Amino acid sequence: MERSTAHIPGERIRFLNEASRGPGPVVYWMQRDQRVGDNWALYHARERARAAGSALHVVFVRMPSYLGARAPHYLFMMRGLREVAGDLGELGIGFHLLEGTPEAVLPGFCRELEAGLLVSDYSPLREPRLWREAVAERVPIAHHEVDAHNVIPPWVVSAKREFAARTLRPKIHRMLAHYRRTVPAIDPMPASRASSGARVDWDALVDALSVAVPAVPRAPVEPGARAAQRAMGAFLDHGLPHYDRRRNDPNAGGQSGLSPYLHFGQLGAGRLIEELLRREEAGADIEAFLEEALVRRELSENFCHYEPRYDRVEAFPQWAKKTLQEHAEDTRDYLYAREEFEAARTHDPLWNAAQRELVVTGKMHGYMRMYWAKKILEWTTSPSEAMEIAIALNDAYSFDGRDPNGYAGIAWSIGGVHDRAFAERRVFGKVRFMNERGSRRKFDVDAYVAAMHALEGFPFEDREGS
Ligand SMILES: Cc1cc2nc3c(=O)[nH]c(=O)nc-3n(C[C@H](O)[C@H](O)[C@H](O)COP(=O)(O)OP(=O)(O)OC[C@H]3O[C@@H](n4cnc5c(N)ncnc54)[C@H](O)[C@@H]3O)c2cc1C
Repeated sequence: MERSTAHIPGERIRFLNEASRGPGPVVYWMQRDQRVGDNWALYHARERARAAGSALHVVFVRMPSYLGARAPHYLFMMRGLREVAGDLGELGIGFHLLEGTPEAVLPGFCRELEAGLLVSDYSPLREPRLWREAVAERVPIAHHEVDAHNVIPPWVVSAKREFAARTLRPKIHRMLAHYRRTVPAIDPMPASRASSGARVDWDALVDALSVAVPAVPRAPVEPGARAAQRAMGAFLDHGLPHYDRRRNDPNAGGQSGLSPYLHFGQLGAGRLIEELLRREEAGADIEAFLEEALVRRELSENFCHYEPRYDRVEAFPQWAKKTLQEHAEDTRDYLYAREEFEAARTHDPLWNAAQRELVVTGKMHGYMRMYWAKKILEWTTSPSEAMEIAIALNDAYSFDGRDPNGYAGIAWSIGGVHDRAFAERRVFGKVRFMNERGSRRKFDVDAYVAAMHALEGFPFEDREGS
């Protein structure tokens, strides 16, 4: 068994099998951390290649389908990967784009290269876990998994599923000083060990995807790691000073807009937190943003890491399961099918406006996401149907969907995960309730509804009463 690389906290690496590193090249299987800078997995792979005097290859496996992702999401990802391939080329590291499923294409790829070590980044979600297991069975070489996504790896910060933000927060803050370290820059490979990838015709690939891409959802931000750095800088300079006050107003544009970058790994959370903590002057705003981008985000990772049923009602806390069960037979004032939700055909102009925002812009405002998911609970026959519909719509349209934050956010809204019990009421039982009146107290609901109605490109026929 090998030990960890210098500079990288050893606990960030998990050795997925007992195999020793062989003499061949190192392969980094890039999954959700799609960037060259600030990437602990790439750094680890580079250091291992250096130590063994071998070449380094980076491979990405593009699958024909993944959790309902649509052509615009693939296009966003491909544009980011094109930048990754170019940056790696300048470092003498070959980039390979394979098509298929990881278990079908990676073993042959590693055999052909006679690879001595496989490094992958980490995700707590079910599908990537299953791929890693299937690949590990078929590739009998050493396999290291490195958490390049979190500031503190979920298996380090806590040994169990946390109850709420208040139980994880002190653990994060205790360890933050130790894990706040930036990833050293990747040195270019010496010419004798430079590798090249198989040629990818990026223009043809992007063109083909662009043709297939429907007009919506539109990408809410420009793809790629460079665009992510610019967006982060712009937010920290101009948005952060108002974040605390504006973030809950869907009309104010007060959120950072960084979630698509974090989701696709075009921006590293470690870099974001580091840059944030340097802006000492912005007191309350820093606290508020740290709570979301560090505590809540890593709480979602904790949830999916320790709860394999993160997308089902079985993951709800006991009190919520009980109360929702007690209200299972309550009369619902409205019932809608998935298609009606998708086409924004409910009786509620505010809900419809949020759905239009999701479908057209590829990102719903954070405050509206809570209202949106809670109303799906209120207007379906059961919490499990509500979970299914909310997850399917979020994953199909949102550029940050298919993410631990989405599964945790939906389970929070529908099943009280990480939340507490409130006064009992119809359908919700003791799960926190939200209504339009509450929203009106927070922001100008009519202005939001009007703005979402003015969005062009909503693909469903307009038949709502609003
Ligand atoms: C029903 C529901 C569904 C959600 N679905 C997703 C999803 O699919 N993908 C996703 O990334 N987030 C999701 N969230 C969490 C949150 O709403 C978004 O992260 C946020 O709105 C993204 O926009 P932003 O980057 O501009 O946010 P900002 O307010 O600028 O926050 C910065 C970052 O902090 C993190 N963050 C903020 N709020 C939360 C939160 N409540 N929980 C966890 N992390 C948070 C995100 O990484 C975000 O990018 C969901 C929340 C709910 C209630």
